[in-house]
Amino acid sequence: MANTEHGGISIELEHIFPIIKKWLYSEKEIFLREIVSNACDAVTKLRRLISLGEAKNIEGTPSRITVKLDSDAKTITVIDDGIGMTEEELTNYICRIALSGALDFIEKYEGESDAASSGIIGHFGLGFYSSFMVSDTVDVITRSYTGAPAVKWTCSDDGQYDITTNYDNADAYIDGHGTAVIMHINDEGAEFLSEYKLRDVINKYCAFMPVEIFFDNGKESDDELKPVNDTEPLWQKNPSDCTEEEYSEFYRKVFADYKEPLFHIHLKADYPLNFKGILYFPRISGEFESLEGLVKLYYNQVFVADNIKEVIPEYLLMLKGVLDCPELPLNVSRSYLQNSGYVSKISAHITKKVADKLNSMFNTDRENYESLWRDLKTFVEYGCMRDTKFADRVKASVLYEKCSGGFVTLEEYLESAKEKHENKIYYTTDKTAQARYISMLAAEGIEVVLLDKIIDTQYINTVEMASEGVKFLRVDAEIADILKDDGECTDNPAVAEIFKKVAAEGTKITFERFKDKSAPALLHVSEETRRIEDMMRLYAMNGGTAPMNMPGSEPTLTVNTASPLIAKLADKCESDPALAEKMAKQIYMLCLLSQRRLDSDELLGLLDDSFSLLELL
Ligand code: ADP
Repeated sequence: MANTEHGGISIELEHIFPIIKKWLYSEKEIFLREIVSNACDAVTKLRRLISLGEAKNIEGTPSRITVKLDSDAKTITVIDDGIGMTEEELTNYICRIALSGALDFIEKYEGESDAASSGIIGHFGLGFYSSFMVSDTVDVITRSYTGAPAVKWTCSDDGQYDITTNYDNADAYIDGHGTAVIMHINDEGAEFLSEYKLRDVINKYCAFMPVEIFFDNGKESDDELKPVNDTEPLWQKNPSDCTEEEYSEFYRKVFADYKEPLFHIHLKADYPLNFKGILYFPRISGEFESLEGLVKLYYNQVFVADNIKEVIPEYLLMLKGVLDCPELPLNVSRSYLQNSGYVSKISAHITKKVADKLNSMFNTDRENYESLWRDLKTFVEYGCMRDTKFADRVKASVLYEKCSGGFVTLEEYLESAKEKHENKIYYTTDKTAQARYISMLAAEGIEVVLLDKIIDTQYINTVEMASEGVKFLRVDAEIADILKDDGECTDNPAVAEIFKKVAAEGTKITFERFKDKSAPALLHVSEETRRIEDMMRLYAMNGGTAPMNMPGSEPTLTVNTASPLIAKLADKCESDPALAEKMAKQIYMLCLLSQRRLDSDELLGLLDDSFSLLELL
């Protein structure tokens, strides 16, 4: 016979309720995760008992969870056919929560900004109570698999409850054994009464839970309902049992990204790390595309959070993927993650696997690897800059694109440069603007690599620091020794004087004999100061103060004493100084033009001067 008793949960619980509401305000939606994952646990526990032969007389296999929405009645009900609870268990597990620990914790951390995510809920067995963030009354109707009589428990958000033993209407909710949690949604939870919103939340947290979940909006018959989740997500399978198509399909489904990823890594770490996952390298279309990836963290197939920086190295956050870490508590606090040795081991493991994958692609299918390099480059360079261990692991697989076409590794480049320019790597930041320099070096058999992304210049700093003696030089940084002719070179003070007059203030004038007679002069800028200036410009672009000219940033104009044009200029300095000045100006401007883009005044001046020179012919 049904018997109803009245009770008050505990003084402490009355204190807990407002705190749960306040702290979890911004993450109200997790109530669904908590209630559905409890249901999942209940089903899994019963399956286990059956398999151990400890639960007898159970018909069929416990298999389903139903989330029912009744927006008219303003209820959300979660029903499972799991283990259920006896009256005693209900009183022990739900009514008498071990609050003292939770209360201590709350007192200690109250007011901390990330408290909402810090996991008092769950951590202290309070997951169930998160339902009160969105409910003013919660009913639990449950019948244990042992066949003990059904119980109904109704609790309002002031902590007062009624418990009805021998509850005789349980069949209206549960079939045999299991639990129904009926949440009477309050004003704060009103948004979850929208089917769209509720499905969205289920999709976010429950998409891969291990028990089939059905969404019942009261409009479709039971037979029409299809599970809303995938109980056997791809990451749980053995990599050798998964096909390429399955990986692609999983990617499209989970990330709604229809650009094929470049490749994936299926992670499966055994004891003691014990985690699984799949990481994808998304196709990045442009340098300025947001590199924000999406790595979803799961706990036994229950979604926990996106992009947990503490678990995934920051530079890997541009990846997309899933990680299932059953060793982490479902509700993890940031401070826990930051201080957890386990977490840093996961992070190190991922780094290693990513590096291994890159190396294996490089070693086994270089052609394909080269074809992907432009897409991988930013990520790899960024990773190397952020993590020296990663840099060390992948250094042999970092490629440089050659201006003449194709790719080389640093080692290959240095090997072929050994004789002509040992330890020096020539690069260009702009193949078109710096074509003059590139072609002069190419004529001497010197390969120039293309480093035209903003990150490149910062990346080469890292490489230089890691490789003793290695120096990257932009093509206009200095005159390579190989371009110089052995013949005698004499300075010409008159020529120096006239160039000083026409060149920008501060320009240094020097003399050199080039093998290539066709270039009358070349402009150079110091590699170090230019890099600093580049960095300052970048800083200014990002809203910092405008860059100033660095001391030592003045360019050097090297006059080629082997050039017939310079010989002519030298003659004119004496015979026709006015013409000599025009010539020098023209030479200087053309040097400037081969070194960088001219600004509008410079370009207009060059055009006018060219026309007036033509008039002299
Ligand atoms: P936690 O799940 O972290 O232990 P909860 O407050 O969510 O904390 O739940 C407390 C206990 O109540 C659970 O450990 C479980 O024993 C019991 N419980 C909750 N929901 C169910 C359910 N649907 N079926 C059976 N037992 C449940």
